[in-house]
Amino acid sequence: MSNYSNIDSKLIHGGIDGDENTGAVNIPIFQTSTYKQDGLGKDRGYEYSRTGNPTREALEALISDLEGGVAGFAFASGMAATTAVLSLFKTGDKIIISSNVYGGTFRVLDQVFNNFGITYEIVETSDLDLLEKSIDQNVKAIFIESPANPILTITDLREVALIGKKHNILTIVDNTFMTPYLQRPISLGVDIVVHSATKYLGGHSDLVAGLAVVNSEELAERLGFIQNATGGVLQPFDSFLLIRGIKTLGVRMDRHIENATFIAEHLKTNSAVKAIYYPGLPDSQGYEINKKQASGPGGMLSFELNEKHNVNKFFESLDFVTLAESLGGVESLICHPSSMTHACIPFEIRQKVGIVENLIRLSVGIENKNDILADLEQAFLKSYEA
Ligand SMILES: *Cc1c(COP(=O)(O)O)cnc(C)c1O
Repeated sequence: MSNYSNIDSKLIHGGIDGDENTGAVNIPIFQTSTYKQDGLGKDRGYEYSRTGNPTREALEALISDLEGGVAGFAFASGMAATTAVLSLFKTGDKIIISSNVYGGTFRVLDQVFNNFGITYEIVETSDLDLLEKSIDQNVKAIFIESPANPILTITDLREVALIGKKHNILTIVDNTFMTPYLQRPISLGVDIVVHSATKYLGGHSDLVAGLAVVNSEELAERLGFIQNATGGVLQPFDSFLLIRGIKTLGVRMDRHIENATFIAEHLKTNSAVKAIYYPGLPDSQGYEINKKQASGPGGMLSFELNEKHNVNKFFESLDFVTLAESLGGVESLICHPSSMTHACIPFEIRQKVGIVENLIRLSVGIENKNDILADLEQAFLKSYEA
C-alpha cells in the first residue's frame, strides 16, 4: 500500500506501479496468450490471457484505485464493458436509462438485450420524482450519464444512488465524460462505473477500450465471471497504451476545462449560436449539482447553430477542428449528433430529448484556445447564408 491519497499521484503510481522483477518503471507488455504450468494444477497465477494477463491486470488495478472501487475490468471497447455489465441481468428485468444516454447504449438495449427479454425505459433522470415514479417491480437497474451525451444534462448522482438503495436496485454510471479525475460515482454511492476509455482516459485517439469498476466483492465475482465467459477483453498492448494515457489525464483535463470554459463563454455571446450547453456556465442546467459531485465541468460542450447558418457548410469550413466521431483526445473533435453519434436513436426520440438537426457537439482539445476559437469563428462566417 502506498502512502499517497491524491488523485494526481494515483494517476501515475496507482494500481501496480512498475515491474517488481526488473525495476522497470513501466509495466511490461505481456504479449502472451498462455502460461507454462509447473505441473498439473500448478500454475503461477496465470493460465490463459482471456482469464488473466499481467498488463491488463495492472490497468484493472489502476482504474479500480482511481474510481475507489473493489475491482476493475478491462474490455475491448466501451460497448464491450457496457455489454458485460448489462449481462448481469436476466429475462424479465427492466433497466431505466437516462434520456440522453450514449447512442450505442440505447442500441444494444433496444436491438440486442431486448431479444433476450431484458427491457428498458427511457426516463429524464435529472427529474428525480419522475425517476422514482418510473420504478416498478421489474426495474433492476438505473443506467445514467452525468453529464449526459450530448446536451450535457446533469443528474444528481448521490440522489440516484439513494433511490437505487431504497428500491434495492443497482445504479450504474457511464463516467466517460468526467473521468475519475473529476468525478468518482462510487464515492457518491453508485454500484458500478463504466467507461469508454477510448475517450479521455486513453486521451490520444489511438485506441478503443472499455473499463468497468464495481463496489462490492459480490459484483466483482459476477462481473469477473462474465468477463472471462464472454471474452471481450482488452489486449496487452492496448492495456499498456491506456496505462500510459492515464498518467497524463490530470494535466490534460485541466487544459480541456480551461479551453472549454473559454470557448463556451465566447460562443455564448456569438450571434451564430442559438443555444449553448456547457456544465461550466453558471446558468446551465444542473450547474450547482455538478459542482457538488464533480471537481470540474469537463471538456465537452454542445451548441445549436443559428438557422441563418448552414450546418454542413460550417463543418466543411473548419480548418483543424476535425469533423469526426469520438471525443476526449488531445485534438479538438466536432460532430453532428443527430446524423453521427446519435443516429441510431429514432427521430421522434431524438427530438424529444433535444438532439435537434442544428445541434453540434464539440470535444474541446488542448490546442491553443485562441486558435480553436478563431477556427470556429471563421467557419461561422463562411456558413452564414441568410
Ligand atoms: C464512446 C462512448 C461509449 C462507447 O464506447 P466505445 O469505446 O466506442 O465502445 C459509451 N459511452 C459514452 C459516453 C461514449 O462517449
